[in-house]
Amino acid sequence: MSSPENPILSISRVEAVYNGAIAALHGVHLSVAKGDIVALLGSNGAGKTTLLRAVSNLLPAERGAVTAGRILFDGKDVSRTNPSHLVRQGLVQVLEGRHCFRSLTVEENLFTGALGRPSSRAGVQAELERVYALFPRLAEKRRTRSGLTSGGEQQMTAIGRGLMSRPKLFVLDEPSMGLAPLIVDEIFSALKRLNRDEGLSILVAEQNSAVALKYADRATVLENGKSVLEGSAADLRQRADIKTYYLGGAPLPPQHFPKETAA
Ligand code: ATP
Repeated sequence: MSSPENPILSISRVEAVYNGAIAALHGVHLSVAKGDIVALLGSNGAGKTTLLRAVSNLLPAERGAVTAGRILFDGKDVSRTNPSHLVRQGLVQVLEGRHCFRSLTVEENLFTGALGRPSSRAGVQAELERVYALFPRLAEKRRTRSGLTSGGEQQMTAIGRGLMSRPKLFVLDEPSMGLAPLIVDEIFSALKRLNRDEGLSILVAEQNSAVALKYADRATVLENGKSVLEGSAADLRQRADIKTYYLGGAPLPPQHFPKETAA
Protein backbone atom coordinates (compact mmCIF):
# COMPACT_ATOMS: atom_id res chain seq x y z
CA MET A 1 0.00 0.00 0.00
CA SER A 2 1.34 3.44 -0.74
CA SER A 3 1.80 5.45 2.45
CA PRO A 4 1.59 9.20 2.19
CA GLU A 5 4.58 10.95 3.75
CA ASN A 6 2.71 13.00 6.27
CA PRO A 7 -0.62 11.27 6.82
CA ILE A 8 -3.25 12.72 9.10
CA LEU A 9 -4.27 9.15 9.90
CA SER A 10 -2.08 6.10 9.81
CA ILE A 11 -3.39 2.65 10.66
CA SER A 12 -0.96 -0.24 10.69
CA ARG A 13 -1.43 -3.94 11.38
CA VAL A 14 -4.48 -3.34 13.53
CA GLU A 15 -6.18 -6.32 15.14
CA ALA A 16 -9.35 -5.94 17.18
CA VAL A 17 -11.63 -8.20 19.19
CA TYR A 18 -14.98 -7.94 20.95
CA ASN A 19 -15.64 -9.48 24.35
CA GLY A 20 -12.05 -10.69 24.51
CA ALA A 21 -12.85 -13.40 21.97
CA ILE A 22 -14.59 -12.38 18.75
CA ALA A 23 -11.90 -11.29 16.29
CA ALA A 24 -13.17 -8.54 13.98
CA LEU A 25 -9.99 -7.05 12.46
CA HIS A 26 -6.91 -8.99 11.40
CA GLY A 27 -3.99 -6.75 10.51
CA VAL A 28 -5.63 -3.78 8.82
CA HIS A 29 -3.61 -1.07 7.06
CA LEU A 30 -4.90 2.26 5.89
CA SER A 31 -3.58 5.79 5.51
CA VAL A 32 -5.30 9.11 4.95
CA ALA A 33 -3.11 11.84 3.50
CA LYS A 34 -3.88 15.40 4.56
CA GLY A 35 -6.49 16.82 2.22
CA ASP A 36 -7.59 13.46 0.81
CA ILE A 37 -10.95 11.69 0.81
CA VAL A 38 -10.45 7.99 1.51
CA ALA A 39 -13.28 5.50 1.13
CA LEU A 40 -13.39 2.39 3.31
CA LEU A 41 -15.37 -0.19 1.37
CA GLY A 42 -16.68 -3.60 2.31
CA SER A 43 -19.85 -5.62 2.60
CA ASN A 44 -21.90 -6.27 5.74
CA GLY A 45 -19.74 -7.35 8.63
CA ALA A 46 -16.45 -6.67 6.83
CA GLY A 47 -15.23 -4.65 9.81
CA LYS A 48 -15.72 -1.04 8.66
CA THR A 49 -17.55 0.15 11.76
CA THR A 50 -15.11 -1.69 14.01
CA LEU A 51 -12.19 0.07 12.32
CA LEU A 52 -13.85 3.48 12.63
CA ARG A 53 -14.60 2.80 16.31
CA ALA A 54 -10.94 1.91 16.78
CA VAL A 55 -9.91 5.17 15.08
CA SER A 56 -11.94 7.24 17.56
CA ASN A 57 -10.93 4.99 20.49
CA LEU A 58 -14.56 3.95 20.94
CA LEU A 59 -14.06 0.18 21.04
CA PRO A 60 -13.81 -0.08 24.85
CA ALA A 61 -17.37 1.32 25.05
CA GLU A 62 -18.49 -1.70 22.96
CA ARG A 63 -16.53 -4.23 25.04
CA GLY A 64 -13.99 -4.30 22.27
CA ALA A 65 -10.26 -3.64 22.11
CA VAL A 66 -7.41 -3.12 19.71
CA THR A 67 -5.06 -6.00 20.52
CA ALA A 68 -2.22 -5.28 18.09
CA GLY A 69 -0.96 -2.63 15.71
CA ARG A 70 -1.35 1.09 16.08
CA ILE A 71 -3.40 4.04 14.94
CA LEU A 72 -1.82 7.47 14.74
CA PHE A 73 -3.88 10.62 14.31
CA ASP A 74 -1.68 13.57 13.42
CA GLY A 75 1.28 11.51 14.63
CA LYS A 76 -0.25 10.68 18.04
CA ASP A 77 -1.40 7.26 19.24
CA VAL A 78 -5.20 7.42 19.55
CA SER A 79 -5.30 4.67 22.19
CA ARG A 80 -3.73 7.10 24.67
CA THR A 81 -6.41 9.73 24.22
CA ASN A 82 -10.03 9.54 25.27
CA PRO A 83 -12.68 9.96 22.57
CA SER A 84 -13.82 13.42 23.66
CA HIS A 85 -10.22 14.68 23.62
CA LEU A 86 -9.80 13.28 20.13
CA VAL A 87 -12.83 15.34 19.06
CA ARG A 88 -11.25 18.45 20.54
CA GLN A 89 -8.04 17.66 18.68
CA GLY A 90 -9.99 17.53 15.41
CA LEU A 91 -10.83 13.83 14.96
CA VAL A 92 -14.60 14.04 14.56
CA GLN A 93 -16.82 11.11 13.69
CA VAL A 94 -20.40 10.90 12.44
CA LEU A 95 -21.57 7.51 13.67
CA GLU A 96 -23.63 5.09 11.63
CA GLY A 97 -27.37 5.70 11.85
CA ARG A 98 -27.58 9.53 11.68
CA HIS A 99 -27.84 10.10 15.42
CA CYS A 100 -29.77 13.26 16.20
CA PHE A 101 -31.50 14.40 19.35
CA ARG A 102 -34.99 13.91 18.01
CA SER A 103 -36.72 16.26 20.43
CA LEU A 104 -34.30 19.12 19.77
CA THR A 105 -34.65 21.40 16.77
CA VAL A 106 -32.23 21.15 13.86
CA GLU A 107 -30.46 24.28 15.08
CA GLU A 108 -30.22 23.05 18.68
CA ASN A 109 -28.73 19.81 17.37
CA LEU A 110 -26.15 21.79 15.42
CA PHE A 111 -25.27 23.83 18.51
CA THR A 112 -24.44 20.68 20.44
CA GLY A 113 -21.54 20.14 18.04
CA ALA A 114 -19.93 23.34 19.29
CA LEU A 115 -20.20 22.41 22.99
CA GLY A 116 -16.97 21.79 24.84
CA ARG A 117 -14.95 23.83 22.38
CA PRO A 118 -13.78 27.30 23.32
CA SER A 119 -15.51 29.63 20.89
CA SER A 120 -17.14 33.04 20.93
CA ARG A 121 -20.84 33.46 20.23
CA ALA A 122 -19.97 35.10 16.93
CA GLY A 123 -17.65 32.21 16.11
CA VAL A 124 -20.40 29.65 16.71
CA GLN A 125 -22.84 31.73 14.66
CA ALA A 126 -20.36 31.82 11.78
CA GLU A 127 -20.01 28.02 11.98
CA LEU A 128 -23.77 27.69 11.89
CA GLU A 129 -24.02 29.85 8.78
CA ARG A 130 -21.29 27.75 7.18
CA VAL A 131 -23.36 24.59 7.77
CA TYR A 132 -26.50 26.29 6.40
CA ALA A 133 -24.60 27.39 3.31
CA LEU A 134 -23.55 23.80 2.78
CA PHE A 135 -27.00 22.33 3.42
CA PRO A 136 -29.59 25.03 2.63
CA ARG A 137 -32.47 22.72 3.52
CA LEU A 138 -31.24 22.72 7.14
CA ALA A 139 -31.64 26.50 7.23
CA GLU A 140 -35.27 26.05 6.15
CA LYS A 141 -35.81 23.47 8.90
CA ARG A 142 -33.77 25.17 11.61
CA ARG A 143 -36.76 25.50 13.97
CA THR A 144 -38.18 22.02 13.26
CA ARG A 145 -37.63 19.20 15.69
CA SER A 146 -35.15 16.75 14.19
CA GLY A 147 -37.48 13.83 14.85
CA LEU A 148 -39.91 15.39 12.37
CA THR A 149 -37.39 15.86 9.56
CA SER A 150 -36.63 13.39 6.75
CA GLY A 151 -33.89 10.77 6.90
CA GLY A 152 -31.73 12.86 4.56
CA GLU A 153 -32.20 15.97 6.69
CA GLN A 154 -31.30 13.99 9.82
CA GLN A 155 -28.12 12.78 8.14
CA MET A 156 -27.29 16.37 7.12
CA THR A 157 -27.94 17.47 10.70
CA ALA A 158 -25.62 14.79 12.05
CA ILE A 159 -22.95 15.83 9.54
CA GLY A 160 -23.53 19.53 10.29
CA ARG A 161 -23.17 18.88 14.01
CA GLY A 162 -19.86 17.12 13.31
CA LEU A 163 -18.68 20.09 11.28
CA MET A 164 -19.53 22.43 14.16
CA SER A 165 -16.77 20.60 16.10
CA ARG A 166 -14.25 21.90 13.55
CA PRO A 167 -12.77 18.61 12.32
CA LYS A 168 -9.31 18.22 10.83
CA LEU A 169 -10.19 14.63 9.98
CA PHE A 170 -13.86 13.97 9.40
CA VAL A 171 -14.85 10.31 9.76
CA LEU A 172 -18.25 9.14 8.52
CA ASP A 173 -19.83 5.71 8.87
CA GLU A 174 -22.16 4.88 5.95
CA PRO A 175 -23.69 8.30 5.38
CA SER A 176 -25.68 6.91 2.43
CA MET A 177 -27.48 4.24 4.43
CA GLY A 178 -31.19 4.11 3.67
CA LEU A 179 -31.21 7.36 1.68
CA ALA A 180 -32.43 8.06 -1.85
CA PRO A 181 -29.69 8.39 -4.52
CA LEU A 182 -30.31 12.12 -5.05
CA ILE A 183 -29.88 12.88 -1.35
CA VAL A 184 -26.78 10.71 -1.21
CA ASP A 185 -25.29 12.73 -4.07
CA GLU A 186 -26.23 15.98 -2.34
CA ILE A 187 -24.43 14.85 0.82
CA PHE A 188 -21.32 13.58 -0.95
CA SER A 189 -21.01 16.66 -3.14
CA ALA A 190 -21.22 18.85 -0.03
CA LEU A 191 -18.41 16.81 1.54
CA LYS A 192 -16.39 17.09 -1.65
CA ARG A 193 -16.84 20.90 -1.65
CA LEU A 194 -15.55 21.11 1.92
CA ASN A 195 -12.63 18.93 0.97
CA ARG A 196 -11.80 21.02 -2.10
CA ASP A 197 -12.39 24.47 -0.60
CA GLU A 198 -11.05 23.92 2.92
CA GLY A 199 -8.74 20.94 2.50
CA LEU A 200 -10.77 18.88 4.98
CA SER A 201 -9.46 15.30 5.20
CA ILE A 202 -12.20 12.69 5.12
CA LEU A 203 -12.43 8.96 5.86
CA VAL A 204 -15.79 7.54 4.85
CA ALA A 205 -16.98 3.95 5.29
CA GLU A 206 -19.47 2.89 2.65
CA GLN A 207 -21.22 -0.15 1.28
CA ASN A 208 -22.25 1.99 -1.66
CA SER A 209 -18.98 1.64 -3.55
CA ALA A 210 -20.25 3.47 -6.65
CA VAL A 211 -20.91 6.73 -4.85
CA ALA A 212 -17.85 6.45 -2.60
CA LEU A 213 -15.51 5.84 -5.55
CA LYS A 214 -17.08 8.73 -7.44
CA TYR A 215 -16.05 11.23 -4.76
CA ALA A 216 -12.98 9.67 -3.08
CA ASP A 217 -9.32 10.09 -3.98
CA ARG A 218 -8.32 6.67 -2.66
CA ALA A 219 -10.06 3.58 -1.31
CA THR A 220 -9.35 0.55 0.81
CA VAL A 221 -11.48 -2.58 0.63
CA LEU A 222 -12.01 -4.66 3.76
CA GLU A 223 -13.10 -8.25 3.64
CA ASN A 224 -13.56 -10.40 6.74
CA GLY A 225 -11.59 -7.91 8.80
CA LYS A 226 -8.61 -7.75 6.41
CA SER A 227 -7.58 -5.00 4.04
CA VAL A 228 -7.54 -6.84 0.73
CA LEU A 229 -7.21 -4.05 -1.79
CA GLU A 230 -6.02 -0.45 -1.79
CA GLY A 231 -5.60 2.04 -4.58
CA SER A 232 -6.65 5.27 -6.20
CA ALA A 233 -10.41 5.62 -6.60
CA ALA A 234 -9.86 6.22 -10.33
CA ASP A 235 -8.13 2.82 -10.66
CA LEU A 236 -10.68 0.99 -8.53
CA ARG A 237 -13.56 2.48 -10.54
CA GLN A 238 -12.18 0.62 -13.56
CA ARG A 239 -12.26 -2.68 -11.71
CA ALA A 240 -15.61 -4.24 -12.50
CA ASP A 241 -14.76 -7.20 -10.25
CA ILE A 242 -14.70 -5.20 -7.03
CA LYS A 243 -18.40 -5.20 -6.55
CA THR A 244 -18.74 -8.86 -7.48
CA TYR A 245 -15.91 -10.15 -5.37
CA TYR A 246 -15.67 -7.90 -2.34
CA LEU A 247 -18.97 -6.18 -1.83
CA GLY A 248 -21.44 -8.97 -1.41
CA GLY A 249 -20.90 -10.97 -4.61
CA ALA A 250 -19.37 -14.35 -5.40
CA PRO A 251 -16.24 -15.57 -3.59
CA LEU A 252 -13.02 -14.55 -5.30
CA PRO A 253 -11.19 -17.23 -7.34
CA PRO A 254 -7.71 -17.74 -5.81
CA GLN A 255 -5.81 -16.79 -8.99
CA HIS A 256 -7.46 -13.35 -8.91
CA PHE A 257 -6.82 -12.67 -5.27
CA PRO A 258 -4.51 -9.68 -5.06
CA LYS A 259 -1.56 -9.77 -2.72
CA GLU A 260 -2.55 -8.62 0.72
CA THR A 261 -1.59 -5.02 1.21
CA ALA A 262 1.53 -4.44 3.27
CA ALA A 263 2.53 -1.53 5.46
P1 ATP B 1 -22.05 -3.21 8.56
O1 ATP B 1 -21.99 -2.47 7.29
O2 ATP B 1 -23.05 -4.31 8.58
O3 ATP B 1 -22.14 -2.32 9.78
P2 ATP B 1 -19.24 -3.47 9.02
O4 ATP B 1 -18.33 -3.64 7.86
O5 ATP B 1 -19.32 -2.12 9.63
O6 ATP B 1 -20.67 -4.00 8.64
P3 ATP B 1 -18.66 -4.38 11.69
O7 ATP B 1 -19.94 -3.84 12.23
O8 ATP B 1 -17.40 -3.71 12.05
O9 ATP B 1 -18.75 -4.52 10.11
O10 ATP B 1 -18.57 -5.91 12.13
C1 ATP B 1 -17.38 -6.70 12.00
C2 ATP B 1 -17.55 -7.95 12.85
O11 ATP B 1 -17.56 -7.60 14.24
C3 ATP B 1 -18.84 -8.70 12.57
O12 ATP B 1 -18.56 -10.07 12.66
C4 ATP B 1 -19.75 -8.26 13.71
O13 ATP B 1 -20.68 -9.26 14.04
C5 ATP B 1 -18.76 -8.07 14.85
N1 ATP B 1 -19.23 -7.02 15.79
C6 ATP B 1 -19.53 -5.74 15.47
N2 ATP B 1 -19.91 -5.04 16.57
C7 ATP B 1 -19.86 -5.92 17.60
C8 ATP B 1 -20.13 -5.81 19.02
N3 ATP B 1 -20.51 -4.65 19.57
N4 ATP B 1 -19.97 -6.92 19.76
C9 ATP B 1 -19.56 -8.10 19.22
N5 ATP B 1 -19.28 -8.25 17.90
C10 ATP B 1 -19.42 -7.19 17.10
